[in-house]
Amino acid sequence: SFQKEVIHIHIGQAGVQVGNACWELYCLEHGIRPDGILAHSEDRSCATFFNQTGAGKVVPRVVMIDLEPTPIDEIRTGTYRRLFHPTSLITGKEDAASNFARGYFGVGREMIDLALNRIRLTAEDCNCLQGFIIFRSFGGGTGSGFTALLLEGLTRDYKKLSKIEFAVYPAPKISPIIVEPYNAVFTTHACMDTEDVCFIFDNEALYDILARLLDVPRPTYTNLNRLIAQVVSCMTASLRFEGSLNVELVEFRTNLIPYPRIHYPLVTFAPFTPPSRSIHETITTQQLMMSCFEPSNQMIKCDPRSGSYMSCCLLFRGDINANDINLTINHIKNLRSIKFVPWSPTGFKIGVNYQPPATVPGGDLAALQRAVVMVSNSSAVRVAWERLCKKFSLMYAKRAFVHHYVGEGLEEGEFKNALHNIKALSNDYRELET
Ligand code: GDP
Repeated sequence: SFQKEVIHIHIGQAGVQVGNACWELYCLEHGIRPDGILAHSEDRSCATFFNQTGAGKVVPRVVMIDLEPTPIDEIRTGTYRRLFHPTSLITGKEDAASNFARGYFGVGREMIDLALNRIRLTAEDCNCLQGFIIFRSFGGGTGSGFTALLLEGLTRDYKKLSKIEFAVYPAPKISPIIVEPYNAVFTTHACMDTEDVCFIFDNEALYDILARLLDVPRPTYTNLNRLIAQVVSCMTASLRFEGSLNVELVEFRTNLIPYPRIHYPLVTFAPFTPPSRSIHETITTQQLMMSCFEPSNQMIKCDPRSGSYMSCCLLFRGDINANDINLTINHIKNLRSIKFVPWSPTGFKIGVNYQPPATVPGGDLAALQRAVVMVSNSSAVRVAWERLCKKFSLMYAKRAFVHHYVGEGLEEGEFKNALHNIKALSNDYRELET
């Protein structure tokens, strides 16, 4: 069958490390060994994400970029060192010092041509490229600044192709970098018109899922990243295996985004079953669907009951009963706690992919017969932007750390412009509720 290709782009530490977890899982699902050899050489299911280079050997369609060497060096020396093409791993010498302006103006400018060139070469290996999936953090200097610069290039060079992002959003309470709110607001402002859809994950939400639902009391980045990988895998299963929705990347935008700016859907996954409980629990399709409306299963901290849904997609995988789905949808439509905006029909898009989820050996999730990701455009996400703006304003009121940004070429007026734009974004969400 004909599959349109997708290129993954991983930027900065978080982008690269989350990427690592995703490729680990993709390899497991497609029966690909760490050296890129296919267990079943006639299996073409991996063709969307992998390029076949020789008899039974595949290479990820990927470009990884970091302004400093450490995270990518770990790949170069790790288990998957022979999976990736060496030229698809691009590193500089100096990091972006957690500064958007350094990633965007400073050291970022020295890397941009190299990165776009590498992406062009990867694109030339495709028959019919459909777009890009980009991974990065909002809070890091490379993730925020370099991604903004790269997205401008991608928009110029590949106008019609989809650009979908998975982004680590600054955690609301604990955050390793003080200036994350600045970086996050600047990058959201800069990427407003260059990204199509951005799925946000906050580490605190992931941390709580692991600690409370999966019996991992002190999760590490590896735990968090494997969790993100499960979600990403479930969301992209239909791009890879035969399915009935989101067979193309562009359909995320078509189904979820009513206005171009309103492009930050909520992501929810179910079930979160730790390996220790797998033999005692069977979860019905209805229970799976109801879990999607639990704030505790969400990848970002906000209460969906405080907002209204504009659109909703449920992407199932594994052993799913289609009849149960329809019955549950009727049930959900009658619930008061789940509100839809008055101007949009209470429509659910459903995708079913019969390929069951795979789990990493020794991972935090039980081997599952079925799983679901719900991606929904909800106005409740505006609290995430309000939270950021508040933290930004507190620091900016004292002009704290401003000189670092101005020193790297950012005009001071941009602080006001960016903040204004993100405040306007949360107002846009509020207005859509009525
Ligand atoms: P960059 O390399 O300059 O883009 O900086 P980082 O990607 O390290 O950005 C810092 C933000 O990303 C902080 O919010 C970190 O908590 C988060 N972060 C860094 N590494 C990881 C990771 O491996 N996984 C996750 N989930 N978050 C990370």
